[in-house]
Amino acid sequence: MKVFISADMEGISGVATNQQLKTPSEYQRFRKLMTADVNAAIDGAINGGATEVVVADGHGNMSNILIEDLDTRARLVSGSNRVMCQLEGLDDSFAGIMFVGHHGREGGSDLTVISHTLAGVCVNEMKVNGKIVGETELNAYVAGAFGVPPLFISGDDAYIKEVKETLPNVESAITKRAVDRFAAELIHPETAQDAIRQKSEAAVQKVKEQKPVTLNGPITFELEFKGPQQAKMTTTLPTVELISPKKIRFTCNDMVEAYKHMWACVIIAITATNGVLGNVNA
Ligand SMILES: [Zn+2]
Repeated sequence: MKVFISADMEGISGVATNQQLKTPSEYQRFRKLMTADVNAAIDGAINGGATEVVVADGHGNMSNILIEDLDTRARLVSGSNRVMCQLEGLDDSFAGIMFVGHHGREGGSDLTVISHTLAGVCVNEMKVNGKIVGETELNAYVAGAFGVPPLFISGDDAYIKEVKETLPNVESAITKRAVDRFAAELIHPETAQDAIRQKSEAAVQKVKEQKPVTLNGPITFELEFKGPQQAKMTTTLPTVELISPKKIRFTCNDMVEAYKHMWACVIIAITATNGVLGNVNA
């Protein structure tokens, strides 16, 4: 039985501020903690019956997890040039997907720790068929298109509450209490990792009870960007319609195609933030 893990960093145990993930010396500490949280989930998944685990590193440059410290029973997708973004490597051969260290969406109802949607520099709001989504819900829909159900989430308490509104049946492990977007009441990482191990094991044990979450038919994305220059540059794609200075819309035949299209728009928008060729030495 194959289990896929989408790993992010903001919801990892010990993380309370963005500075911790950006200051070089601090960042090295949190790479170790991220790897340890992921290891707890791998151990739980295998104890629960998984025979293969693939982890996709999905934070920042997507190469945070320390491969030399990763559980030897797992494989790691690392590096950021990925057509399938946080889900590179996922296909219909997996029995379930787990989300480790994820975070709430930009502008969510609670001040979840370091909340954002995919790229804080450009995405203000993302809607799929009219519903506002964060990364976990979005990825769960894409996994659903492959017939893969969501099993487990870990992150701060406000994130878990937010995601359970859409995915009520997932098992969850709380890694900290959200105090503010840039503050948290922390517990010791080993305590959080014990919870991750236990809950991911329980989640995989009952994998047969879990159903994929699916959106059928044409999929329409609406993306609101932070700046009009970001929205405008995505209209280089003929499928993109500008519906207001900062908002775009496009429709694709299915969720996987739409996810890739969304990712293309976000890549363009990130690049357009300060002028598309500003940092290219050509
Ligand atoms: Zn992240």
